[in-house]
Amino acid sequence: MRLRNITGSREAIAESLYVVSESVQTECPGKWKEIFGNDSPVYIEIGMGKGKFIHTMAKEHPDINYVGIEKYSSVLLRAVQKMSQEELPNLKFLRMDAENITGVFGAGEVDRIYLNFSDPWPKDRHAKRRLPSREFLARYDTILKKGGRLEFKTDNRALFDFALEELEPAGWKAEVVTYDLHSDEKLIQGNVMTEYEERFSAQGNPICKYIIYR
Ligand code: SAM
Repeated sequence: MRLRNITGSREAIAESLYVVSESVQTECPGKWKEIFGNDSPVYIEIGMGKGKFIHTMAKEHPDINYVGIEKYSSVLLRAVQKMSQEELPNLKFLRMDAENITGVFGAGEVDRIYLNFSDPWPKDRHAKRRLPSREFLARYDTILKKGGRLEFKTDNRALFDFALEELEPAGWKAEVVTYDLHSDEKLIQGNVMTEYEERFSAQGNPICKYIIYR
């Protein structure tokens, strides 16, 4: 998702108390408990877009700390505006490219990772940019604690098939796989819809989901 550039979004993000400042991101590894001021587990969403999913999750689970990661200021601004309407102490944002994720979280510091409706990057030569690619799985392997889980949802079947094929070479295993989340009575329990999920499921697209571990 790329919104048109919103004038002033970069400045608004830089000033926001909800966003961990880019100038201190390199100091964050090993410090997330300190940043939140408690020992709660840390769950992150990479490519969170306007933040509906992570905001709802943080509201429903006050004993978990959430970090939403988004590359574009103009998109992140929407999540920041939502937070100013409804502040949550257990939610922070990072404006960054997830390629650098191992420079912001320490080894094993993250308890769960969410990828929701990640950009498909359909050209083969861009496969490394796909968030469920083996290159990204190697980065997640560093920051995710032992026994931690990664959850991925998408309506893009080609991207989902690619993501499943990446598991074995990257050393991950599937705990849960569904090609139609919304028809699965058990898996749909507690499901929080993202902006894209609402849009694509309303169009009748089945939603694929996996939960993986290594
Ligand atoms: N997760 C949201 C949802 O399900 O409604 C947004 C989905 S949108 C298709 C994908 C989002 O991921 C975009 O906002 C994009 O800017 C962000 N994104 C893509 N690659 C990223 C990266 N390498 N680092 C951080 N954010 C990224």
